[in-house]
Amino acid sequence: MPSPQRFAVAQQIQQRQPVATAPVQSLEELWCSDVFTLAKMKAAMPKEIFKSVQRTIKDGSKLDVSVANVVAQAMKEWATARGALYYSHVFYPLTNSTAEKHDGFISPQGDGSAITEFTGKLLVQGEPDGSSFPNGGIRSTFEARGYTAWDITSPAYLMETPNGVTLCIPTVFVSWTGEALDKKTPLLRSNAAVNAEAQRLLGLLGETDIAQVNSSCGAEQEYFLIDNAYLPLRPDLLLAGRTLFGKSSAKGQQFDDHYFGAIPERVQVFMQDVERQLYKLGIPAKTRHNEVAPSQFEIAPYFEAANVATDHQQLTMTVLRNTAKKHGMVCLLHEKPFAGINGSGKHVNWSIGNATQGNLLDPGNTPHENLQFLLFCGAVIRGVHLYGPLLRAVIATASNDHRLGANEAPPAIISVYLGSQLEDVFNQIREGRLSSSSIGGMMDFGVATLPEFPKDAGDRNRTSPFAFTGNRFEFRAVGSGQSVAGPLVSLNTILADSLAWVSDQLEAKLSSGTSVEEASLVVLKEVMEKHGNVVFGGDGYSDAWHRMAVEERGLENLRTTADALPVLQRASTRELFEHTGVLTPVELESRFEVYAEQYILAIEVEAKLAVQIARSQIYPAAMRYLGELAGSLQLQTAMGLQVSPETQNAVASLSQTLMEVSGSLQTAIDQPPHGTEAHMRHCAETLLPLMSDLRTAVDGLEALVDDNLWPLPSYQEMLFLR
Ligand code: ADP
Ligand code: MG
Repeated sequence: MPSPQRFAVAQQIQQRQPVATAPVQSLEELWCSDVFTLAKMKAAMPKEIFKSVQRTIKDGSKLDVSVANVVAQAMKEWATARGALYYSHVFYPLTNSTAEKHDGFISPQGDGSAITEFTGKLLVQGEPDGSSFPNGGIRSTFEARGYTAWDITSPAYLMETPNGVTLCIPTVFVSWTGEALDKKTPLLRSNAAVNAEAQRLLGLLGETDIAQVNSSCGAEQEYFLIDNAYLPLRPDLLLAGRTLFGKSSAKGQQFDDHYFGAIPERVQVFMQDVERQLYKLGIPAKTRHNEVAPSQFEIAPYFEAANVATDHQQLTMTVLRNTAKKHGMVCLLHEKPFAGINGSGKHVNWSIGNATQGNLLDPGNTPHENLQFLLFCGAVIRGVHLYGPLLRAVIATASNDHRLGANEAPPAIISVYLGSQLEDVFNQIREGRLSSSSIGGMMDFGVATLPEFPKDAGDRNRTSPFAFTGNRFEFRAVGSGQSVAGPLVSLNTILADSLAWVSDQLEAKLSSGTSVEEASLVVLKEVMEKHGNVVFGGDGYSDAWHRMAVEERGLENLRTTADALPVLQRASTRELFEHTGVLTPVELESRFEVYAEQYILAIEVEAKLAVQIARSQIYPAAMRYLGELAGSLQLQTAMGLQVSPETQNAVASLSQTLMEVSGSLQTAIDQPPHGTEAHMRHCAETLLPLMSDLRTAVDGLEALVDDNLWPLPSYQEMLFLR
């Protein structure tokens, strides 16, 4: 029998009904109904002005200031007709969150009346007081000015609450001196860098009509849903987003009965609510299913231009969190909310392409004949080999560390999985004998009534952190709560750098009269000789790979954020971002400072919380139980019964360990070393191991103490009751 509070919560949950929230509407009614789309813009403004807007969006040409006034007017009319009284510049600070500053359309008039007003200037530029956003020392608080600037390439939209709507305008966020304080600015710059270098290479390959090249992203989002009635009883979930304690449930994910199983009704109703809101916001939610762990689910959109996909991904996280609340649940985007079962990631599917050449990472049916593909894919391989540690650094967070390198999660060693067909093609290139592509053949089910279809040329590899999946790469090691901007910025930037290298090599060879084909194969052979080591098709989870990767292939295994973040301070990283024009050294340094600080803060909050819960909730429960045991033993002895003090001794000893370890932990929290790197190491090497020891004691007590006295809802309750 659980404690009375836990039992009351469990009963409340058993009585919950699915919450119907909106009338069913068709896709036509829903789709983009809350978005200020190009079509709406077109209808609301003169043709010439609209064309100018289009040019900026499609070709990246500079935005004409006079155009902004017209767009602002049209936007305001649309939004106020929907009841908006406020607009908000939305921006993306370095914390993975979404920030908003709301301003009224209101403009009081001299005669006591008020009108709505929204000019081009207000649309284009905002000035939130930026001093309270982490900036890694770019600005001191006395230079608090920060500016937001309209990103015309990401559509404005309405955010609805039960009391009205707000017009939201995606923006970049920069300091008074022009440094990027956000995640969108570098993303836009990285797109420009990859566009320039892709155009150059396509030109060398003989293309003449080359449209703007852009990166694309489809981000699969994994998450946990649990009933929110547990939250007040689980301060760790409330404040840290994960359980710091909790004995494994007797049943976990071992039956594999949850993955792709029937979606529980309450959850499905939640998902449908989420999808409707996403459709209204123009976010193309496409797939939904259960994930591996109990109470774990996934939602994936159709891919879009990376910049828009990134804004949409942030919105998706917001909608998931808010909607869960409406349905009496909490959506956990933490990478490892529960120990011992799978964690959540965000698989970032990434490709680059344009309107004229299409997807530049599409191998076609005979990749060995597709020079364009081979060069772009080769450039990715080179980039990942040279900058693998950077890719590890941009997914380094306190929470993702619980996942990387653990079971059923990608390893912290960054390698590339190509699939058998491409691995074979690139091996042929390395050996200088490129002649064929193996083909997949047809799928034969052995049942005449079932349809035939062609097999994919390569299988999938769930154990690879970075896998080619048909016509794109899937960066699988990204954390579930992270913004996808950082990973996309890095991928675009290392690709731009590699494409430049490929073009330099090609140019040199072409100028001495070599044919494009011959020159390309020489360059690709060099790529494979120098960088082929990063290609790995085997089991990324195995110990053998961890050894081989480091000892034979020279790849780095950066286990913790404390190991990984200093990569941002390496000279090679600084040069990469500087020469591609994506981040200045100051901007890069500020990112190191901010991410390091976030890491330290996250672990310190958890450590303090662990001490607090252990001492103020667990220890008292253990003492109460000891008291009961003592009374009962006394009674039994008085009755002349044979008594065994085994449980009593175990509880006493674990309780003592609890007090000792939590004491050491508190001391360690109170006495951090000086210096950012040392402080990070202290978190990774002192605080986390002490927290783990403390957890062992607490979870040991959970197995012994009377369930009726145990204050924390159990894994079993949280994961299986809904
Ligand atoms: P899987 O389960 O096979 O990984 P999903 O359908 O769950 O596939 O998700 C794959 C994601 O990859 C989707 O968001 C999809 O739109 C996206 N995607 C597909 N093609 C591309 C591409 N060329 N570039 C970027 N993303 C893509
Ligand atoms: Mg998937």
